[in-house]
Amino acid sequence: MPNLTYISHYPEHLKVQILQLIEEEKLGKYLLVKYPTTHTMTSDKALYAYVMELRAAFLRKSEPITKVLYDGKISDINDALGLHRITIKNHGGRLRSKSEIRVASVFKSTPELFLKMICVHELAHLKEKQHNKAFYALCEKMEPSYHQLEFDVRLYLTHLDLFGKLY
Ligand SMILES: [Zn+2]
Repeated sequence: MPNLTYISHYPEHLKVQILQLIEEEKLGKYLLVKYPTTHTMTSDKALYAYVMELRAAFLRKSEPITKVLYDGKISDINDALGLHRITIKNHGGRLRSKSEIRVASVFKSTPELFLKMICVHELAHLKEKQHNKAFYALCEKMEPSYHQLEFDVRLYLTHLDLFGKLY
C-alpha cells in the first residue's frame, strides 16, 4: 500500500482513483499533461517579488512582510499545508509574531501554479492563523482554483515520495 499521507483526508472515491494512477504508474503523466512547464522564480529575490505582487493585489492592508525565502529545512510539507506553522518567536522574553514567508525548496522547481498555491496559502495566514472558512475564502479570492491546486500539489508531493522528482 503506497504512502498516501498527503491526501489521506480526501474522500475515498478520489483516493481510489489516485491509487489506480499510482499502480499503473500514470500519476506523473497526469501531472505533466496538466502542468507541463516550470516557473523561473528560483532565487529568493524573485520569490520575494512574486509574493509582494500577490500581496499588493489582494492584501494591501495586511501586516508587512519582512522576509521571503526558499527554505531547504522544510522537509515535512504536510506540516506546512495541514497544520499552521507557528511563526511566534521569543524575543528577549516577549513573544512577537514575525511576518516571514518561507517556502519549501521543493517549490523552486515546480509549475508556477504550484508555487502560487503555496504563496497564496502563506499570505492568507497573515490574516487568518487557522485553517478555517475565512482562511480558505481568502485563498480562493487570491486564486479561484485554490482547492484544485492544493489537491494537485498534494498529488505531486505523493509522486515525489513514491517516484521522485518530475520537474
Ligand atoms: Zn497553513
